[in-house]
Order: sequence, then structure tokens, then C-alpha cells
Amino acid sequence: MVAESLDTQSLDAAAPAPPIAESDRSPARAPFDDLASDWLLRHLLDVDTLSRDEILRILSTANAMAEVLERPVARTPALRGVTVFNLFYEASTRTRSSFELAGKILGADVINVSGSGSSVEKGESLVETLNTLAAVGADAVVMRHPASGAPWLAARTIDGHIINAGDGQHAHPTQALLDAYILLREFGDLGGRRIVIVGDILHSRVARSNIWSLTKLGAEVTVVAPRPLLPASMTAGAAEKEHPLSLPNVRVESDLDEAIVGADAVMALRIQSERLSGKLLPSSAEYARRYQLTAERVAQAAPQAIVMHPGPMNEGVEIAVDVAHSSQSRIEAQVSAGLAVRMAVLFLLIRGGA
Ligand code: ASP
Ligand code: ASP
Repeated sequence: MVAESLDTQSLDAAAPAPPIAESDRSPARAPFDDLASDWLLRHLLDVDTLSRDEILRILSTANAMAEVLERPVARTPALRGVTVFNLFYEASTRTRSSFELAGKILGADVINVSGSGSSVEKGESLVETLNTLAAVGADAVVMRHPASGAPWLAARTIDGHIINAGDGQHAHPTQALLDAYILLREFGDLGGRRIVIVGDILHSRVARSNIWSLTKLGAEVTVVAPRPLLPASMTAGAAEKEHPLSLPNVRVESDLDEAIVGADAVMALRIQSERLSGKLLPSSAEYARRYQLTAERVAQAAPQAIVMHPGPMNEGVEIAVDVAHSSQSRIEAQVSAGLAVRMAVLFLLIRGGA
């Protein structure tokens, strides 16, 4: 894939942060409104339907949001009067708290509803729950659900904006966007950059969304996994099958030691044990022997290579403890970037024109 040049300067230039003090004083217009003008996407369900420009627009807006986070009092009333529900049917620490804080920093009211302790536990259907949230005035619903596709049903059910915070093994668009944010900040341009994603590709919504966004940004993506942890569409012979859901071209490798040589970034993924349903896998020790990101393996990557992980990590299984906390690790930076990116997503969808 040929990548156009993209540097962090062009990211900055696309969306200069507005003079905050002045816009905050204006009663007529919420701060940042210019950033959302002509934004036309109503929902964020996945990254596969976003154009490269839309991805860059979200990331440049995140740059402006990152400046808010650097203020002594990180608050702006950009979404004052807006109500956001966090509807989480699966466990989450990072994503849920990141969306909650993102909404609050922008001045929105954020209400958490989880699968346990709500009427969901009493058997209420997703559609009924969504209708209830709409009836009490939800402007946006951030949802995580174990069923792939649930956010698409939600987008057809209520008028509010729907943001997919992870659906089954399908998509996790804000994770992919924050990963792209980190990589662009590091490299300026992803054209021709080699990114290796190693781990449970089959069950990983993070891998799937990242493959879409990173290839759209011009990166060369290689996935590495033992065969039982690869989707059927990526195993030998799959290329001939024209499958409507197949992913864009990525290299598939089973040998991490080969794949990692010269890589610019390596992303390790957790084995999604909650989605394994009795599949035959190597033991943790055997998996670690062949697929763990160790310091020796990372030393074979490019000299400036970075290490990423979406969390939660199983240190000592997919990633060695020293690698997770090394100077090449951007794992903590991923968590902080998540906040700015989620602020950008909430803001663009809610204040945009759709
Ligand atoms: N599942 C992870 C956690 O709970 C990250 C996420 O929320 O997406 O921390
Ligand atoms: N936090 C990511 C997710 O929710 C990855 C993981 O849970 O392993 O998909």
C-alpha cells in the first residue's frame, strides 16, 4: 500500500487547538465547536468504514483534547448539557473509566450501567434497556457487549449516538484509534512501517480493528499466532475464498523470531481465555516459549522499535515483565492516549452535524 506523507505537523496543522480562554468565555458557542464542523458520522461502530481522512481527523482532534488534559484544571464545557451512558455487559477497567473520565472532562453527565446490578440481570433485553436509556434522555451510549454486532442493533434501535467500546471478538474501534495515535506520534508517518501483532488473533477485536486502521494508514501488518488462534480467513488456502468479511491483506506468520526481525512496532495480545470454548492450545509455558515478547526477541526488531499491549496484560505469558516496563514500552502511554482519543470521539459525534 502506498502511503501519502503524514507527519505530526500535518496532524497539528489540521486542527490547531483553539484559544481556550476566549472560547470558554463565549456563551453563544461551546468551545471546540469549530473542530466538529462538517463532521458527519453519527456513530462509531468500527474503523473499517472510516476513511483515512476520518481517522486522521479524529486523531488531530485528539491532539487538541490532549492540550486540555495538560491544563492545571483539565475541564472544558464542550459537552455541557449532554448525557452519556456507559452500558457495559462485559468486564472492563480501562475502557470504561477512560470513557467516563473523557465525558466528565468535557462537561457531560456520564452514567454507568453495567450488566450486573441493573435490570439486565433481571433478564431485560438489550433493546428494552436501550429504549429505557433513550427515554431518560441519553444523547449517546457507549456500549460493550459480548455479542459481535450488538452496537449495530443499538444504532438501529435508538436515536442517540452509539459508540462501540468492544463487541465480542469483532471490533474495538477506540482501541485501534488510540494505537494509531501512539504510532503516529512515534513515527510521524506509518507508510511502509512494519507492525507485528502477536497473540490470540482469532478472538481479538483489538487485532481486527487495528488491521483495518493501520493498513488504511499505510503500515505493513504481520500477524503471528499459533494456528488455532488464527481466523480461518487467514489460514492457508483462505485467499481463494472470497469472503465478504475478510480482512485486508496482512502477512501471516507462525514464527515470531522470524516475523519480528526489523519490525518498527510489536503489539502483544492476551489470550482471550473467556472466548476459547475448549479449543486445543499449547500450555502457557509452551506458548510463552514460542510467542512471548522477550527482551532477546525485541532486540531483533528495529533499533527504535516500540512495544505495545492493549491491556490487561498477563506479564510472564505473552510479554516478559522487563519488556512491559522497558523504555521501549508505550503501554502506559496507550492508556493516557485513550483518554484524549475518547474525548475526541465523543465530541465529534455529539457536536458534529449528523
Ligand atoms: N478489558 C480491559 C480492561 O478491562 C481493557 C478494556 O477495558 O478494554 O482493562
Ligand atoms: N482490552 C482489550 C479488549 O477489551 C483486550 C483484551 O481484553 O485482551 O478487547
